[in-house]
Amino acid sequence: MTFNNKNYNNILEDIKKNQQIGQFSQIIAVSKEKPTNDINEAISCGVKHFGENRVQEASNKFIDIKKSNYNVKLHLLGPLQTNKVGKALEVFDYFHTLDREKLATELVKDKYRQLTSKKQFFIQINTGDEVQKFGISPKNADEFISFCTKDIFLNVVGLMCIPPISEDPKSHFVFLKKLATKHELKHLSMGMSHDYITALQEGATFIRVGTLIFGKR
Ligand SMILES: *Cc1c(COP(=O)(O)O)cnc(C)c1O
Repeated sequence: MTFNNKNYNNILEDIKKNQQIGQFSQIIAVSKEKPTNDINEAISCGVKHFGENRVQEASNKFIDIKKSNYNVKLHLLGPLQTNKVGKALEVFDYFHTLDREKLATELVKDKYRQLTSKKQFFIQINTGDEVQKFGISPKNADEFISFCTKDIFLNVVGLMCIPPISEDPKSHFVFLKKLATKHELKHLSMGMSHDYITALQEGATFIRVGTLIFGKR
């Protein structure tokens, strides 16, 4: 049992203290690599949003959990391959890693469209323009956001980023917020165990916290 209820409640307090006025920020408890026992314990303590990085692991753990817990919502935080789209749509409610045209086009194919229309999408921005990272480069972001929202009508609700590990995250969060405002997107998925307070101060509506809630992986 590694769910840390004390830390979870401290983060809830930090949200109250640091979120911007009029903002309603929520915690995604990142349960990747953690067993269902830990997840069930979190649910019994009131956690509703969970995040996973891999489609197969998420299906194994959450299909049953969601059958008996209707208000649990699952967020995909890792990269999505086009050949896993069907399986991902079966278990995830939110997708944080929409990052390329090939994936966007796959999601609106006839065989998926009905399911896709019930999901919420975040476009992942590679704010540091790092070669090894996923996400759309900032220079292509305007065009890609417009394509997803105006050309193929995906239900894009916001933007997501993972700042470079070696940099002060603040400027990345500020950039993401500006870009979301420009495109009239409401949600910002930003902030992890080490930087969620800064993210809240800069307008995060979803913070993604794993280690602080479930312990080291
Ligand atoms: C694993 C992961 C997290 C959680 O990270 P912690 O440092 O454990 O809080 C958040 N976001 C993404 C995209 C992740 O892959």
